[in-house]
Amino acid sequence: EKAEWSKLKNSATVTADGKHFDIAANIGTPKDLAGANANGAEAIGLYRTEFLYMDSAELPSEEDQFQAYKTVLEGMNNKPVVVRTMDIGGDKHLPYLPLPEEMNPFLGYRAIRISLDRQDIFRTQLRALLRASAFGKLCIMFPMIATLQEFRQAKAILQEEMQKLKADGIAYDEKDLQVGIMVEIPAAAVLADQFAKEVDFFSIGTNDLIQYTMAADRGNDQVSYLYQPYNPSILRLIKRTIDAAHQEGKWVGMCGEAAGDSIMTPLLMGMGLDEYSMSATSILRVRSLMKHLDTNELQELVEQAINVSLTNEENKQLVTKFVEEH
Ligand code: PEP
Ligand code: MG
Repeated sequence: EKAEWSKLKNSATVTADGKHFDIAANIGTPKDLAGANANGAEAIGLYRTEFLYMDSAELPSEEDQFQAYKTVLEGMNNKPVVVRTMDIGGDKHLPYLPLPEEMNPFLGYRAIRISLDRQDIFRTQLRALLRASAFGKLCIMFPMIATLQEFRQAKAILQEEMQKLKADGIAYDEKDLQVGIMVEIPAAAVLADQFAKEVDFFSIGTNDLIQYTMAADRGNDQVSYLYQPYNPSILRLIKRTIDAAHQEGKWVGMCGEAAGDSIMTPLLMGMGLDEYSMSATSILRVRSLMKHLDTNELQELVEQAINVSLTNEENKQLVTKFVEEH
């Protein structure tokens, strides 16, 4: 099995019926590029920039950030790189940025909510990103978007920084830069049709989408039985998001753990998810699985999983049986 996988390192991800999907890597620092490239990542689907902030004794400067982003863009040789703006808060803290004590940190002041409030921090990151965009194919992604207004506000700030760079004669990618959001709050999935008109892409964050849909802390063992990626409620939100994006001609990725889960693969392929971003060590396993599946045969499976099955467990068995028989 492993031998077959390694042959797939330098090939694109093509299904049994000749469809192409992108398998991308999740990274936390520029050091992770080596693993992404060694495993044949077709893109970076999620660069979690909060590690830049967490590994630093103070707010990282525009220059330090620019260097990190540039390294990643150059290292991917013009393949797409989705960089997520700072997702601090929840369980991730910065010693030099005191956050309020909160009853429910995961429902509190985090990610884009901090960025829109602390625009000094946000603008520095956006400037570093824009400057780096001259060195590759950058997609900027905002985390934890709940409302259209948040997205519009974040995008307006980005555009202001573009204007400033332009006025200063500093280069950035004016042509192909994409701006998208994580779909990880149920409100965004429910209104995916409206968001799809305004974004360039979606990336579904199942880790948080499951947590918030099931109202079950993703890190709490006592409620981990509710962490149900195959629950029809979750699958419906995912399908709704994919359909809404495609309706507007936009692409959709997934960067939560579910993107690299072999049980999810046939379902996501059947729904037409475009990009699958996972830890580098999962890439070849998923690429190999996709190669053996025919998307025409997956439509009925998706239909069953969403409209007939009632439980997470039933869907797990449904897909396992399907894969064994194909
Ligand atoms: C997610 O929520 O699915 C995600 C990819 O982001 P994180 O795990 O960093 O919250
Ligand atoms: Mg998340």
